[in-house]
Amino acid sequence: MKNRSTPDHHKTLEETMSATIIAIDDSVEVLLSIGATLEQDYDIRVATSGKEGLPLVAELHPDLILLDIMMPDMDGFEICRRLQQDETLKDIPIIFLTSLNRQEDEVRCFEVGGVDFVTKPFSPIVLRSRVTTQVRLKQQADLLRFQATRDGLTGLFNRREFNFQLDRDWRACQRAKKQLSILMIDIDHFKLYNDTYGHLEGDRCLQSVATAIRNQLKRGRDRVARYGGEEFVCLLPETNVQAAQHVAEEIRAAVQALAIPHTASIIADTVSISVGGACEDHFIDQTSAKLLKKADDSLYQAKEQGRNRVVFL
Ligand code: GH3
Ligand code: MG
Ligand code: MG
Repeated sequence: MKNRSTPDHHKTLEETMSATIIAIDDSVEVLLSIGATLEQDYDIRVATSGKEGLPLVAELHPDLILLDIMMPDMDGFEICRRLQQDETLKDIPIIFLTSLNRQEDEVRCFEVGGVDFVTKPFSPIVLRSRVTTQVRLKQQADLLRFQATRDGLTGLFNRREFNFQLDRDWRACQRAKKQLSILMIDIDHFKLYNDTYGHLEGDRCLQSVATAIRNQLKRGRDRVARYGGEEFVCLLPETNVQAAQHVAEEIRAAVQALAIPHTASIIADTVSISVGGACEDHFIDQTSAKLLKKADDSLYQAKEQGRNRVVFL
């Protein structure tokens, strides 16, 4: 059984590429034959009703849903409608399983947002082919989305994705009247590191620092992105100044604990970082750009004051 508890944004590429399918049908017999047809190639989960199936979909974020149309309580079209309303679930492809074979029913499958339909009783070969096609398309889309949002070297979010997340978190925190904190992080004397150990070793150092930062973010909504060359930025929604300072200090200490030798550094024997923080708490007449600027000013101060430290303005 794969570990499915990882939140979507922390999924590794490999987890993103393995395929899970949820089949929802009130007939156990049909579910058994779906299992027999597909379980060799996919992780198959089943539910006998929408009531059971919808929470399962929300939990597992499968790559494909096989959905019966005629079911007591909630029919397949209604389940599909509910999934479409959820921003995080609406892109999961749905293949309808139908014993209806009037053309208007087939048309309806597409109208409500299904990608395909298979008529029951189904031929295993037909089911397998249709599933293979849709899973492949879904995985290609996932891969493109993954690559478009990540930094190639560190696997962290890239700057474009960060800008998008900042905008979204800014509005969410403003609405909820919660604080939003930002940390700007910059490796100290990294030019000297490259000059001493070479660019490849420099890249490896960036990867280690990136992982150390990510490991210190424990709340589900915290994010870290690579902002530029040797600069990183953390978004901490619903986090006040004291908590953000605490996280910043933990990140600083975690990088120090990596104990990566840096003999050329003027301030320490090992690789260190400077962290500049800023926290927004009233949002009136403010912009996310100003908050970012304040974090950057704090970082500048941290450098000025001697590096390997946290400063909040
Ligand atoms: P400071 O303590 O003031 O931040 O000094 P610094 O040397 O870290 O700052 P500076 O901005 O002068 O140098 C940043 C260096 O980061 C220069 C550049 O070669 C290096 N760098 C940027 N991106 C990469 C990368 O992708 N890989 C490697 N190896 N080095 C990079
Ligand atoms: Mg820099
Ligand atoms: Mg630097």
